[in-house]
Order: sequence, then C-alpha cells, then structure tokens
Amino acid sequence: MNLDNLINLSYIIASVLFIYGLKMLGSAATAKRGNLISAVGMLVAIVATLFYRGMSYQWIIAGLVVGGTIGAIAAQRIKMTAMPEMVALLNGFGGIASLLVGWAEFYNRPTSPTFTLVAISLAVLIGGITFSGSLIAYAKLAERMDGKPHLFRGQQIVNSALVLGALALVAVFAHSGDLAAAALIALIVLSLVLGVLAVIPIGGADMPVVIALLNSYSGLAACAAGFVILNNVLIVAGALVGASGLILTSIMCKAMNRSLSNVLFSGFGAVTATGAAGSGEQQGEANPLSVQDAYYILEAARSVIIVPGYGMAVAQAQHVVRELGELLEANGAEVKYAIHPVAGRMPGHMNVLLAEANVPYEQLVVPEDVNPVMTTVDVAIVIGANDVVNPAAREDQGSPLWGMPIINVDLARTCIVSKRSLNPGFAGVENPLFFKENTRMLFGDAKKSIQALVSEFKDA
Ligand code: NDP
Repeated sequence: MNLDNLINLSYIIASVLFIYGLKMLGSAATAKRGNLISAVGMLVAIVATLFYRGMSYQWIIAGLVVGGTIGAIAAQRIKMTAMPEMVALLNGFGGIASLLVGWAEFYNRPTSPTFTLVAISLAVLIGGITFSGSLIAYAKLAERMDGKPHLFRGQQIVNSALVLGALALVAVFAHSGDLAAAALIALIVLSLVLGVLAVIPIGGADMPVVIALLNSYSGLAACAAGFVILNNVLIVAGALVGASGLILTSIMCKAMNRSLSNVLFSGFGAVTATGAAGSGEQQGEANPLSVQDAYYILEAARSVIIVPGYGMAVAQAQHVVRELGELLEANGAEVKYAIHPVAGRMPGHMNVLLAEANVPYEQLVVPEDVNPVMTTVDVAIVIGANDVVNPAAREDQGSPLWGMPIINVDLARTCIVSKRSLNPGFAGVENPLFFKENTRMLFGDAKKSIQALVSEFKDA
C-alpha cells in the first residue's frame, strides 16, 4: 500500500470514529466516551496528515507550540462559569482558521480552477461571518456587551444588501480576472461586517439559537476549506459539525417555539412589552422565606422537582444540590431534575453540571415529561433559573417571552426560588413567578442557601 492510500485509509478510520463518537454524544450516559472516541479520531487524522509529502514541519511546530501554549493556559485559567464564552470564542477561531486557509491558498495558487475559487470564497465568507459573529456572541455572554438586541432603521435592508454584495464578490472572484485579489479582500471585510450585523440584533432568550447556528457555520467553513485544499477528512469533519449544528439549531428553535427566520429577522426583545411582565414594574409583594421554613416545607414533601438554571452554574451549587436531592429521597420523596433545553448559557449546560455532580441520568427529565403532572408536585425548587420558569411566556401576550415553552413551576403546590434578588434573567424580563401566592423566595447565593438546607436535614 502506498503512502497516499495509507493516509486515505487513516482518514476513513478517523471519519468512522467521528460518526461513532457523535452518535454516543446523543445520550448523557455515553457522552464522555463519545467525546474520547472522537478525540482519538482527530488524533488519527492529524498524525496521518503529518505524513503528507512536502510538509513544512517548522511552521507546524511553531503553530503547535504557540497555539498549544495559549490553549493550555486558557483551559487552565478558565472558570467553569465562563465555559459558554470560551465555546463561543473557539467557534470563532474555527471560522477565522478557515478564512485564513482560503486566503493563503489563493496566494499559493492564484490560477486555481473555478471550483477551487468558489470553495475559497465560501471558506472566506462563512469563516469571516463565523469569526466576527462569534466575537459578538462572546461579548454578549461575557456581559461585556449589553445582551439586548441592537437595532437600527433599515437594518434588514442593509443586511440584505450586504448578502447580495457578498454573492456578487464571490462571482467576481470565481471569474478569476484581474479583480480577483481585490474582490477577495472586499469579501473578507464584508464577511466580518456581516457577522457583526447578523448577531447584534439578536438578544435575550434567542441567543442559544444563534450560538448553535454559529457552531454550524464553523463546520461549514471548515468543510469549504477542506474542498480548497482537497483534504477528505476536513470535508467530512466540517460537514459533520455543520449538520449537527443545524440539528442543534432546530432543537433550540423548538425549545423557544420560534422559527429560525423569526429568530434571525425579528429582533427578539425589540417588541415593546405591554404587559406587567415586561413593564419593569414590581407586580406585588414577594414572599421571602428562611432556610428553616424551607426545610419544614421540603421535609413534608413527597414529590420534588428541582429546576436548575444559570444561577446554579454561577454559584457552582450542583454538588450541594445533588446532596439535597439524596437527602430528600432518603426522606421518602420522589425527586426529579427538570432541565430546560435553553437553561444556562450553552446547549447542555445543566446536563454537564449535573453529570459532574454525579446526579443519576434516570432522574433527569425534560419539560414535556414534567409539565403535565406539575399540579400534583408538592414542591418545585428553582435553583438560579429565571427565564426558563417565567410564566409571562404563558400568560402575557405582550411579553417578549410570549410563546416560549417554560417549566411550569408556578403550577406546583409550592414553589421555592433560590436566587439572590428579584432581578431579571438573561432576557431582561421581569418574572411574575416571584409574586405568586404559592411562591416563596429563598434569597441568597444558591450554594450557601442549599448548603444551609442540607445542614438542616443532616441536623434533624
Ligand atoms: P437566567 O439567565 O434567566 O437567570 C439566571 C438567574 O440566576 C438570575 O436571575 C440570577 O438572579 C440568578 N443567579 C445568578 N447568580 C446566582 C447565585 N450565585 N445564586 C443564586 N442565583 C443566582 O437563567 P435561565 O437558566 O433560567 O435561562 C437562561 C437564559 O439564557 C435564557 O434566556 C436563554 O435563552 C439564555 N441563553 C441560553 C443559552 C444556552 O445555550 N443555554 C445561550 C445564551 C443565552 P439574581 O441576580 O437575583 O441572583
């Protein structure tokens, strides 16, 4: 077998490992192993690629040392709570890598066939949009930028004109005349502007959809880069990321009960809220309760639903929450953890945290499982969740959250909310749940509050 065949065979093995790994990522029980299998696939692909003839090893080593050092330091320093921002940045870097591959390849082979030129322009266009769009997503998630949608008059017309301009530039570039080099530079600038303008109008609860979409774009850009350099494994890996990102986008749209076009073109939160939930006015008196009173309520409960949200990640309360769950079970209660698909700040955020705390997978349920029986639940405990339990989504047509399926904790016999204040969540929308008759507010940091509850159970 010659070297080329051996490399291609390794690529097929790597692709099979990617697909197998992806399949295992579909279930929390096998996800860890799936990740490892995909990583082994990537190692096989990288090692095989190093055997290509004509490699400039000095550049590869330099890239490996610089990139590896930055990556290792960033991974060491990053706090668990900042993972969503990190993932957004990594998506963006995937995009810029594809853009640079396309750009470099044009200068290596300026007289490429039309097919390659089209692939270059797509790698540049999609890669540029992914890069700048992901930087905006990063800024919003890291709260370096206001999470609200930023809209200006004629925005959709400007965006449409930019898309048409980009397509015209692709055509000019693929035609490969004297203008090709200038068209490529213009395409790079335009793609970066388009990425910014596509993400700034999206805010609040719609961000998960955009993050999944950018993830998909980074895959499509890599796939285009694969066609540029005719690398089979890059084409396959890019297509897999692109396709799985699209599936995730569709899951997120379903979780928000919105269509993709509605998310991309309507400017979430731009609606002037007419109802009380969006007015910013306090809608009554919240009922605070002490840890001891929370203990008495929970001690008597026979069925408990725990609903984690972004605040659990901030407080790093997942371990004490699991401990509380175990104590409640030992006390005779049936305990379930209800996870909303958009809870937290990245897809699967709550699943990751609860898996880290060794919460049994069988205890995890989705809103569709738990909402129909919510009226029979003794206590729903909300741990740092807000938007995903906001009844305004069901009750207030004027609310920007209107129509989003939530976890109906307000329908449980008693609802205990653990958070630090009455402040709104990521979408910036007031939450009438806090003022309902059956809601009790357990104010304070979630880890401290739940830790104190755990102590009450242990001391009893
Ligand atoms: P929210 O962002 O709605 O609310 C989180 C709440 O946690 C806050 O209201 C805050 O209240 C509370 N909190 C913060 N720190 C602590 C702490 N230390 N202890 C206790 N509570 C704390 O979270 P949800 O999970 O309900 O909703 C997620 C939101 O993020 C949705 O709008 C979703 O669309 C959006 N989003 C989701 C992404 C995803 O992929 N999952 C990506 C991007 C956005 P207080 O300050 O009073 O404590």
